[in-house]
Amino acid sequence: MQTFTNLVNGKAVEAADHQEIFNPATGDSLGLAPLSSEQDVNDAVIAARKAQKMWANTSDQERQETVTRVAEILQDNSEYLAQLVTREQGKPLAGPGSRFEIQACIGWTQVPAALSLPPETVYEDEERKDTLHRAPLGVVAAIAPWNWPLMIAIWQIIPAIRMGNTVVLKPSEYTPIATLEMVRLINQVLPPGVLNTVSGEGRIGAALTSHPDIDKIMFTGSEATGRRIIEASSRNLAPITLELGGNDAAIVVPGTDAKAISEGLFWGAFLNMGQTCACIKRLYVHENDYDQVIAALSDIARKMPIGDGMNDANLIGPLQNEMQYKKVKELVDDARTNGCDVMEFGDTPEKGYFLPVTLVGNISDGQRLVDEEQFGPALPIVRYRNLDDAIASANGLSAALGASIWANSLEEAEPIALMLEAGTVWINQHGAIHPMVPFGGNKASGYGVEFGLEGLKAVTQPRVISIKK
Ligand code: NDP
Repeated sequence: MQTFTNLVNGKAVEAADHQEIFNPATGDSLGLAPLSSEQDVNDAVIAARKAQKMWANTSDQERQETVTRVAEILQDNSEYLAQLVTREQGKPLAGPGSRFEIQACIGWTQVPAALSLPPETVYEDEERKDTLHRAPLGVVAAIAPWNWPLMIAIWQIIPAIRMGNTVVLKPSEYTPIATLEMVRLINQVLPPGVLNTVSGEGRIGAALTSHPDIDKIMFTGSEATGRRIIEASSRNLAPITLELGGNDAAIVVPGTDAKAISEGLFWGAFLNMGQTCACIKRLYVHENDYDQVIAALSDIARKMPIGDGMNDANLIGPLQNEMQYKKVKELVDDARTNGCDVMEFGDTPEKGYFLPVTLVGNISDGQRLVDEEQFGPALPIVRYRNLDDAIASANGLSAALGASIWANSLEEAEPIALMLEAGTVWINQHGAIHPMVPFGGNKASGYGVEFGLEGLKAVTQPRVISIKK
């Protein structure tokens, strides 16, 4: 059985303990992943701290070139990494699955490589000149989740490294192997200590985020853990970028052509089996259009091949882990018990954490499947009578990562988009993130943004040089 290792100061670190990782589609073993100790966390932070000054002193151009080489390594190893993601995380190789995830990793590496934050003159007159410089913060703790284990890790690692920080990354205990392999590969072009890993359960994440020598925390995960991280940061006063998932509403404007939007709605909700922070998690449809929208979504759902994602024919895989499988099942069972119309599509294999693609109609606000983040392949479809009610529903929860409006024309959609309280409001698309476009939550979905120039700024310390002329 293969044993995977963490990487600290450019070297593989043998762990005292390990956990076996299993394929969520087949139950097959992938090998042993390391379980770090608190001493390992300390060693990784020390290594990152030691490397940081040297890394910050490299030229901007050198860091750009290094990050560009990281993208090349990801490209050269893309099929190996995609297969590992499918076997560990479950998302299929095909469609918007693991090959798509690796291509996204490459894009989210190339774009920060190409961007820079040169000093900016913020004020000048005859007497003075004030210039804003962007210095690295220092050592960044990155805590990645299990739904997009490589892509979200890249979102955290690359901007940080690009701006002269060093990183200690902890992948989720559910999906450590593909991430550790990615780090091992890209480390070939990084100086020792620039990117380090620790792995293990939440306790190790807590030891990392509360470590006194951490200067910034990047976290994507649940709201409950986000709150713990805020508390942990009181020990090091590290600023935090918090991406805490959402319960995104999509509103279909009355009279919208259901067939034309059905494919976008479907993947907006079922991307990665719904295990995506910015997926459509509740769909609001006018009562006159309700039957057509359900029919159009059912037509797509009926044709979706479900199964082991290593088979290129499959587009829907298993849930990643038992905790999530049980959670989604419980929410659907709750809806069924409350008389909702549960429509299940697809033949699910007996083995593995598979759930059918599920549409749930005859459901309303206040039911658990609507109000709680399901993070799975079960979409509640709520009828509305007038648009104001749908907008109030969309804004009615504390989660506010994304939202979308679906309409025949921009004239109809744009005024509604401006009324929605979310970090991003998409029109006729959902979850359409881009490496140049800032992304982050409002309200309980977190704070701070990632991507683009704003994302680079978030891993820097503003410093002003003020000159008397
Ligand atoms: P968590 O928030 O617990 O996990 C996210 C990451 O945080 C993992 O790496 C986890 O490590 C780590 N972690 C856990 N506890 C701590 C801590 N005290 N300090 C620092 N890091 C910690 O999410 P779950 O995996 O428990 O999933 C629960 C729910 O969260 C899901 O059902 C879903 O609704 C939501 N979620 C949202 C995501 C998003 O993209 N926004 C991603 C994942 C989950 P470890 O896994 O080793 O415990």
